[in-house]
Amino acid sequence: MLDADLVVIGAGLSGCSLIARLRQLQWPGTMAVVEAGRGPGGRTATRRRRDEPHWRLDHGAPGFHLEDPLAESVQSLLDPLRDNGVLRQAKGAVMSVDTDGSISRSGGPADRAWLEGEPFMASLCEALLAMNDGALSQHFGRRVRTLQRDGDHWCVVQEGSDWQLRGRRLVLSGSLLAHPRSLAMLDWRQVPLREAVPAGQDPELDQALETLALSRAEVRWNLMLDLPLNGDQYPRQIWLTPEAQAHWRVERLVLHPQADNRTGLVVHGLDSGKTITPETQPVLLKQEEQRLRQLLPELLKAWPELQSACERAESLGVMRWGASQPIDHPLPPALQWCDASGVGFCGDYVDGPGFGRAEGAIRSGVNLAQHLSTLTP
Ligand SMILES: Cc1cc2nc3c(=O)[nH]c(=O)nc-3n(C[C@H](O)[C@H](O)[C@H](O)COP(=O)(O)OP(=O)(O)OC[C@H]3O[C@@H](n4cnc5c(N)ncnc54)[C@H](O)[C@@H]3O)c2cc1C
Repeated sequence: MLDADLVVIGAGLSGCSLIARLRQLQWPGTMAVVEAGRGPGGRTATRRRRDEPHWRLDHGAPGFHLEDPLAESVQSLLDPLRDNGVLRQAKGAVMSVDTDGSISRSGGPADRAWLEGEPFMASLCEALLAMNDGALSQHFGRRVRTLQRDGDHWCVVQEGSDWQLRGRRLVLSGSLLAHPRSLAMLDWRQVPLREAVPAGQDPELDQALETLALSRAEVRWNLMLDLPLNGDQYPRQIWLTPEAQAHWRVERLVLHPQADNRTGLVVHGLDSGKTITPETQPVLLKQEEQRLRQLLPELLKAWPELQSACERAESLGVMRWGASQPIDHPLPPALQWCDASGVGFCGDYVDGPGFGRAEGAIRSGVNLAQHLSTLTP
């Protein structure tokens, strides 16, 4: 007995878009989603706190933009989200600051039509999964470590346990199980998908794995703070100009006002290029926390109240995004589905409009759904 016709690993924007679009297209197969995190969202996840049940912090992408023209299939997926208010135009302003602290209200990110999830970013993936009317089995808090190809089906096994799920077809969103970066970061010996299907068995999969192995992504160190201040009158995002980013090694500051007159602040720190391993990571996290906190008085010169609130802020630690945004070697859409092995890919690393961004993630999920919907379950 198989658990599902299609198993999707990853409940980020691409995996959730794939699942929701397959349902919109009335694909009759059964589906299961397995996600390492505690809930849906991936890089658009929203951080919660055990000690503060009402606290929500968009600690990854705080919003995104879409570029015209948008494919009709993508539009059809997003229309219900707009209609029920889960996807809306961003409320707060977007500004930029230069190395000398001067503020600009136009140019670059400030000119984009920013969209965001309502009430927070993770709401988007939650709403996409809810479009399945309960006809989807969902498994959170399970990081898949091993993939096995067993005859004509797939078996995915959780790390550190014997929990497993069997499906006729498999889709990986996120490239963790298919990219060599996991080997250094997680101390794995081989790329799990390569272990499951040895080289030479499926030329399309060989090509896809070769392309993915070349792709690189930016690492981010996001410092999260709890500020004792009502942030309603401040910008939602303060971007640094390219010169200021190079100078401070910070991309932007993101403010997230909370219901209790406090504000979450996320400082998006850029990487220094130091090697990250299970041994070096704890030291690097501490160093980045100190570095980013020390920069705040300088970065917030134009907002003295914010500046002073930062001095009294409680640190919520640093979130390291191992692959915040892919930067090169996109996966050609023709390799998104490898029929001989019954395995596919979706994610912001697939080539096309919005590559490396939320738009690309949504598009890749929608396009793969269009293809899978033509296959019998
Ligand atoms: C800090 C930051 C800022 C960003 N800012 C912007 C922005 O301003 N605008 C924009 O357009 N985009 C932005 N992005 C990029 C955007 O968030 C991503 O492009 C998009 O969310 C990617 O979605 P995805 O589904 O492709 O991948 P993900 O969201 O990474 O989803 C993959 C999911 O798979 C899960 N997973 C992976 N491996 C396993 C496994 N082995 N077992 C179980 N689960 C697994 C992961 O936990 C994850 O939830 C930003 C990203 C970051 C990190």
